[in-house]
Amino acid sequence: MNRYLMCAPEFFDVSYVINPWMEGNINRTSVALAQDQWQRLYDLIKTQATVELVRPQPGLPDMPFAANAGLILEDKAILSRFRFPERQGEEQYFADWFAANGFTVHTLPPQIFFEGAGDALLDRDQRWLWAGYGHRSLLDSHLYLSKWLELEVLSLRLVDDRFYHLDTCFCPLSQGYLMYYPLAFDEPSRRLIAQRIPPEKRLVLSERDAVNFACNAVNIEHFVLLNQASLPLKEQLNRAGFEVLETPLTEFMKAGGSAKCLTLRLNEPRQPLTGALPVVAQRTIELEGHLLDSNLMSRVMDTIQDAGGSFEILEFHAGSRQQDLSRAQLLVTAPDQTRLDEILMLLIDVGARLPAIETLDAHLEVVRQQGVAPDEFYITNIYNTEVRVHGQWYPVQGQRMDGAIVVDDHIRPAQVTCQLLRDLQVGQKVVCGVDGLRTLLKREGRETEEFTFMGASVSSERRVELVVEQIAWELRRLRDQGGKVVVVAGPVVIHTGGGVHLAQLIRDGYVQALLGGNAIAVHDLEQAMYGTSLGVDLQRGMPVRGGHRHHLKTINRVRACGGIAQAVQQGLLTGGIFYECVQGNVPFALAGSIRDDGPLPETQMDLIKAQEHYGKLLQGAQMILMLSSMLHSIGVGNMTPAGVKLVCVDINPAVVTKLADRGSVESTGIVTDVGLFLSLLLRQLQM
Ligand code: NAD
Repeated sequence: MNRYLMCAPEFFDVSYVINPWMEGNINRTSVALAQDQWQRLYDLIKTQATVELVRPQPGLPDMPFAANAGLILEDKAILSRFRFPERQGEEQYFADWFAANGFTVHTLPPQIFFEGAGDALLDRDQRWLWAGYGHRSLLDSHLYLSKWLELEVLSLRLVDDRFYHLDTCFCPLSQGYLMYYPLAFDEPSRRLIAQRIPPEKRLVLSERDAVNFACNAVNIEHFVLLNQASLPLKEQLNRAGFEVLETPLTEFMKAGGSAKCLTLRLNEPRQPLTGALPVVAQRTIELEGHLLDSNLMSRVMDTIQDAGGSFEILEFHAGSRQQDLSRAQLLVTAPDQTRLDEILMLLIDVGARLPAIETLDAHLEVVRQQGVAPDEFYITNIYNTEVRVHGQWYPVQGQRMDGAIVVDDHIRPAQVTCQLLRDLQVGQKVVCGVDGLRTLLKREGRETEEFTFMGASVSSERRVELVVEQIAWELRRLRDQGGKVVVVAGPVVIHTGGGVHLAQLIRDGYVQALLGGNAIAVHDLEQAMYGTSLGVDLQRGMPVRGGHRHHLKTINRVRACGGIAQAVQQGLLTGGIFYECVQGNVPFALAGSIRDDGPLPETQMDLIKAQEHYGKLLQGAQMILMLSSMLHSIGVGNMTPAGVKLVCVDINPAVVTKLADRGSVESTGIVTDVGLFLSLLLRQLQM
């Protein structure tokens, strides 16, 4: 005979708001109606099972929701630790009842919130435990559940406030069926459910049934007791062999509960265990830097939570003065190892350090298909990274964003390089997961490694002149030291009249390579040959009659010469940016795009070759000026490791933020007109 625990609603009321259902319902319940509805449920269950009662207590209006008392398996009771103080008073009464009724009571550490059978539902064949987290219970509690119950725990993340407990949107039924409302869960949880429950056994609820608490049902053998179900749901349940018994529980729904919430099943037998128990995965991370004043700490915490994990701050030392660094150690918890690795990769990207587990080498997997990495490959970021191979740390050569790390450990010392996916060869070994990896965030001129995401600054118009002064100073310093500055530029430079200034910068030796697309070259050449840009006279800002043809005539004439350098040699091109490049032996790379006219002979329409050409010219760059080309600037940003000073100038703050927001402390964003910027810069340099 099945056994249930219930608690009469003598003191039931909505007297506080701890879930969205309670809003607007304070003191709006009818005690008489609640008692009547509860009694009917009680009587119904009694026809199928034994019901035991725990004494209700004044001042604890939610106590009738006995499902939240704890979780039972055989003779073990894991006592709930309520998240909200309003319900914490219930704990002692439930603990006493469990102890008095022969259960061994397990108590979670303080702050490890867990709300009992409201958030933990046994698969009806006892193959595993489904456990919810995200609103009331903490993911960390699942570790204790699997340890104490010796059961596989499958963690499901709840993402809709209305379904704050797992039992409000998820109901395992006998014969392996599951009734649930998928939109209450995040995508990985929905995938996990689909992996475990075959489609023919999944009964998917409509929103209407879900908000009528159809999932909050008590399943005894082939009976399903619930508040209300739509006709299609009833038919679905009937087809699956269940008989639906509706009993109105509207008073309890005002507090966010229904049939299942009002009961706790006491006889949960166990099936013999099969196989190993995958448990929730954890790893410690370390952060160092200006964690508070630059919002890094909250950013890290958000990243963990958004990705479905949870954290515990193990240690935090706040720097006491403005220049002091803060340090933190966080324990990150994820539902499984794969999701933990995903979260750790995100955290490494924002600059977290994984304390190296000194005994762990990087996990390597072999490439099986040309140009395709193993599924769990580690995706690189801009930070200098080291990989542990055969007990030794190796720096990654050619570090860049969005690559894979290839390890050749047949040779000593091993060779560790960053490679693009398309360059991967069958048989190469690629780093997978996050073990045996560490990233170094060394800031120029500083001894300590520092964690500084978004240390990059984005300047508004008012600060432009000041920033230009600093850039000019740095450009002069680099030129005098024989350094390398690369300019990435879009055609707006020409439209805004900045072409002459950029040409002057090249002539004066401030630029060592130029990257762009077809357009900057075409517009610059048109400007040099006809004085117009897309047919507009730049001196007067007026369209020129027939000027629209200048653009294509330019392309045609340069094509006739065989290229830009030839146009210079043949005297067709006598000024402008590209003229200065040819004259000053400043190499340039033009990457093609689908919107290109012509193109010019130099424009590389094979994008892989264009990327390679960009990469070559970027090698050894110390500063990159990105001038009003979103496409090419982002492309270049992805190829550039940390440590290179980036200056991004664009009129659109979103573009500037996107580029400055890549974790590099060395980047400066300037929101302004590029023509104005170039003229200010030149003026500074000529002062
Ligand atoms: P893009 O959209 O990538 O970047 C243009 C950027 O300039 C934008 O971010 C915009 O906010 C910014 N901007 C606009 N006005 C500005 C101003 N006054 N000051 C500062 N910033 C300003 O476009 P793109 O780089 O010009 O071109 C993308 C691709 O299309 C390139 O490959 C280019 O060669 C090609 N294209 C070809 C032709 C052609 O062949 N005729 C013409 C245009 C573009």
